[in-house]
Amino acid sequence: MTEPIVQFKDVHKSFGDTKVLKGIDLDIFPAEKVAVIGPSGSGKTTIIRMLMTLEEPTSGDIIVDGQNLWKMEKDGKEVKANEKHLREIRGDIGMVFQHFNLFPHMTILENCMTAPIHVKKEDKNTARERSIEMLDKVGLGDKLDSYPNQLSGGQKQRVAMARALVMRPKVMLFDEVTSALDPELVGEVLEVIRDIAKEGEMAMILVTHEMDFALDVADKVLFLDEGVIAEQGSASEVIEHSDNERLTSFLHRFR
Ligand code: ADP
Repeated sequence: MTEPIVQFKDVHKSFGDTKVLKGIDLDIFPAEKVAVIGPSGSGKTTIIRMLMTLEEPTSGDIIVDGQNLWKMEKDGKEVKANEKHLREIRGDIGMVFQHFNLFPHMTILENCMTAPIHVKKEDKNTARERSIEMLDKVGLGDKLDSYPNQLSGGQKQRVAMARALVMRPKVMLFDEVTSALDPELVGEVLEVIRDIAKEGEMAMILVTHEMDFALDVADKVLFLDEGVIAEQGSASEVIEHSDNERLTSFLHRFR
């Protein structure tokens, strides 16, 4: 049987006295597309931030491609992961944020080439070729030498996607990537995500309020509510056919 690429095992997370995640169990398989929906404050971003190793769980395990994020073996004993271990796992994970975080003083081609050269130690030509290929894929092959401030919000978000794809991640995280965009720019960004999703090979976790998009792209939808996965199933089961009252009333606000 195929092993999950991402596993959460009874993951809890508190900030001080506030319990934000209260026992998350989750398996995501290679190439699976998972949408995470739920009210503001339900813990969606915290899940993403934990996968990015920006937050450590209070208890429980997070396993990516067979490696525990926060624990490693040393001399036959389990010890807290060091920075090198975390860095290796981070290499498997790509992320697109709500705000684009592009380097303003670099062209969009340079924005894409930086990580392969400095993190993966790829040679410049390989990084350039792959960056051009990915910028082509997101429809920006004619903007290689533009600077971020010369692009629209939707174009910047597409650069952010190309920049993540250049690293060949096994898992891509998308955290409300369209929520900071003007409405007329949302479509072009979702279209690119759809295209990437169709290619298939990567697992994708998408935090989104775009229910039609989730229906279209996601193999599985999780409804997060007050720190637990309150409902999960196929997109149609969760978005169209659930009788969970809190879910139904949440969906009413978006459809
Ligand atoms: P969502 O993405 O579903 O809106 P979040 O994961 O951002 O939810 O937040 C869940 C809860 O955790 C919120 O109540 C938020 O205030 C709290 N929270 C998130 N990060 C921190 C932090 N670094 N310190 C304290 N509280 C936090």
